[in-house]
Amino acid sequence: MTKTLTPPQVPLIQPVPKASVTVSTMPRAHLVDQLTLDLQVHQIELEMQNEALRVSQQELSASRDRYVDLYDRAPVGYLTVSVDGWVVEANLTGAELLGLERSRLVGGRFAHRVAPVDEQRWHRYALALTREGGEPHRIELLMNRADGTSFHARIDGTRVAPAGQRPTLRMTLINIDENKRTEAELRLAAVAFDTQEGIMITDANGVIERVNAAFTKITGYSAQEAIGRRGNLMHSSLQDAAFYEVMWAHIKDKGRWQGEVWNRRKSGEVYPQWLAITEVCGDGDAPTRYVGTMTDITERKAREEEIAQLAFYDPLTDLPNRRLMKDRLQQALVASARSQREGALMFIDLDRFKEINDTLGHDKGDRLLQSAALRLVGCVREGDTVARIGGDEFVVMLPPGLGNLPGEAAVLAAAIGDKILKAMREPYEMDGLVLQLSASIGITLFGESPTTVEDLLKRADQAMYQAKGAGRDTLRFFDAAAQDSLRARSSIEADLRVGIAQGQLLMNYQPVFNVAGKMIGAEALVRWQHPQRGLLLPDEFLGVAEDSGLIFPLGQWALDAACAQLALWRNDAVLGELNLAVNVSALQLLDAEFVPQVLAAVRGHGVNATRLKLELTESVLLHDVDDTIAKMRELKSHGVGFSLDDFGTGYSSLAYLKRLPLDQLKIDRSFVHDMLNKPHDAAIVRTIVELGVSLGMTVVSEGVETGPQRELLTHLGCQGFQGRLFGMPMSADELSRLANSEVPVKAFPQD
Ligand code: C2E
Ligand code: CA
Ligand code: CA
Repeated sequence: MTKTLTPPQVPLIQPVPKASVTVSTMPRAHLVDQLTLDLQVHQIELEMQNEALRVSQQELSASRDRYVDLYDRAPVGYLTVSVDGWVVEANLTGAELLGLERSRLVGGRFAHRVAPVDEQRWHRYALALTREGGEPHRIELLMNRADGTSFHARIDGTRVAPAGQRPTLRMTLINIDENKRTEAELRLAAVAFDTQEGIMITDANGVIERVNAAFTKITGYSAQEAIGRRGNLMHSSLQDAAFYEVMWAHIKDKGRWQGEVWNRRKSGEVYPQWLAITEVCGDGDAPTRYVGTMTDITERKAREEEIAQLAFYDPLTDLPNRRLMKDRLQQALVASARSQREGALMFIDLDRFKEINDTLGHDKGDRLLQSAALRLVGCVREGDTVARIGGDEFVVMLPPGLGNLPGEAAVLAAAIGDKILKAMREPYEMDGLVLQLSASIGITLFGESPTTVEDLLKRADQAMYQAKGAGRDTLRFFDAAAQDSLRARSSIEADLRVGIAQGQLLMNYQPVFNVAGKMIGAEALVRWQHPQRGLLLPDEFLGVAEDSGLIFPLGQWALDAACAQLALWRNDAVLGELNLAVNVSALQLLDAEFVPQVLAAVRGHGVNATRLKLELTESVLLHDVDDTIAKMRELKSHGVGFSLDDFGTGYSSLAYLKRLPLDQLKIDRSFVHDMLNKPHDAAIVRTIVELGVSLGMTVVSEGVETGPQRELLTHLGCQGFQGRLFGMPMSADELSRLANSEVPVKAFPQD
């Protein structure tokens, strides 16, 4: 209820107390004496009364002054306003609050003191007060001071109607700016505490003192249940004591810790949580409280898995896609070399599928592919991989374990191949139709000599074409005639050895642009000027270089060439701003000399290390990740940046990826290529961009060939572009001309 402060009534002069007259009942003889005496007494009494009257009048005027003073100097403003809105009386505080002389306040309209925004409210308030009277009413108004400043006032008013007089409005006025501020601060604090993030505050011993609503939502524990218990009530057994020891040691040392933990909800469910703990210290240095903030990252994790699913599985059949198959094949090759056991790769192509697809429609075609996929899976053993790598192309990988002898393995692989052929021949029933299908299969064994994934795929593909040539619905093994290409490889190796030594390598540069159309960097791409075969692209010799160890001198050459180029650009206003990216093979990172070599190249040419970016592929994750991270960190400490190349095509461990100190993600051009007509690929690009941005990396697209691709990529949040639309790899001179040209990117050919 509102408490009304009414001005103290200035007391009216009160009647003096009546003198008392004593009536006597004495005998007559004494009467005169008595009367005289009485009279005297009475006179004395009167004197005394007069004296008392004087004194009380003095007191009265003193107390009146005191009251007036109390009234004027009261901590609140008192105002009396006539029912038609004129100020008829005010105390000094009221005048001061409104910043003007009392003489100017009194006699003026109260409404003139109210800020225009609140004038209407004031009139309504005054009207209500006049009509309803009695009960005190409260209102908050923005008031203007005479000097033009304003303040928030709280007004409590009541109608006073002395008998026979016109009613007036008696009001108190106080400045509530300070209250407003603290109120706002409190509200802010309450809002801050009431975020999506769970917040838990504990005392120095970890006993929970306060939690917010989000905490309850995440953990399932209400405030009553949590307060007074220790923070570890939510621990799951997924982290051991050592984990928490390390965590607390870190908090003691740094005052703060954050990371991912698995906690247990009240319901018993274990979930991943991002937890940050901050120590709060009192006057001394000792911590007095800990504040823990937590976010439930179950969904984020699920999304990451979804990305992995999108990137590595075929959405139509749910089989692994080409990327995942290649990963597994790579691992199988390593395992095979180690165990000396044979594995096999089968390439399966459905016969005349295109005809069926075109006649029956894609819908039925898709269902047919799904049925075929199911049959394939039914033909292999657990541990074998069935992948869909293209429209009607499947691959089956039989991992090492088929036997030690080539003959043995071939027999087993052929048996599985026959089983598949037979299963494919079984009629398919679809909407009342009976369809007949068959397949052609090419098989290659991993073989004794170490091979690459690409080689194996090529071999199996060749064998599959032989099966087609032999009339379809059959299988063929890769035969010796196809070994020719292998022989060609060995001559490349010898030539490359000479070529590197004789300076036949050269560097091209492909520009990278930002969203605004400004060139921000370039990627160095190696070429080989072969004396007989002409200019060769990396795809034609990098595989050989990696297999033969020539990748080390080649990589060293590339780093040196890039740094030499950066040195040439150093003093150029435009080129000096560019970052230069150099591709680094995962093998190079394994080399203990790698870090010193990079630093030597940077120092040798006296270039700014922050201009240099090294592009790695996800295959670095196949090796010692901790060692890789240590090397990256060291280079980063000197300013060298890191970019993850061909993202989405390689190894799938996002958990590992997050640990790499990367600055940039490059979306593989295969996604960009198909994103406009394959929503699936656009979805992958979107998730990759989101992932990159959430991990604090810039995201660059490769292979941007058309305006619409660039537009969609920009829309999805991609920050850098590289590709035909902006310029293919070119010589350093051409790049320099392009960087200095005024030609806006829009003027580039749109296709
Ligand atoms: P990458 O790192 O993905 O390089 C981009 C490749 O995409 C280049 O092929 C480039 O010519 C091509 N490209 C650029 N724009 C477009 C486009 O709009 N459409 C299409 N379809 N392709 C485009 P390039 O030069 O043949 O290089 C192939 C790969 O060789 C590179 O792929 C990189 O992984 C590797 N590489 C190149 N130079 C070096 C090097 O010095 N060291 C190492 N270790 N690897 C290198
Ligand atoms: Ca690259
Ligand atoms: Ca790339």
